[in-house]
Amino acid sequence: MDKALNKKDGIIYPIWEWMSNTKFIDKNSEERNFNTEPTCFICNNTLSIRPKGGSAKSENIHFWHNKHGTGCPTIEKNRLRYIGLKETYCDYSNSIIER
Ligand SMILES: [Zn+2]
Repeated sequence: MDKALNKKDGIIYPIWEWMSNTKFIDKNSEERNFNTEPTCFICNNTLSIRPKGGSAKSENIHFWHNKHGTGCPTIEKNRLRYIGLKETYCDYSNSIIER
């Protein structure tokens, strides 16, 4: 996830702004803590920033849900699968109609 909601103003900001805008970073914090928590605009849970796959390159940095069990559909394992749907056949007559 590369964007997060700022609950204080109700606006969704990109990750680069969360990391650089002094509006979000606590200037007195050595760990560069947020003075307002980034929030998922889908499930309303708090987010943190971390690199993907252990790489600290800026393009790999993203927001992640820092609590387990949020059920947020942005996390692949939480998405509903198409259980009960079966394979179907190719209906070539539809392609003929479109010509
Ligand atoms: Zn979420």
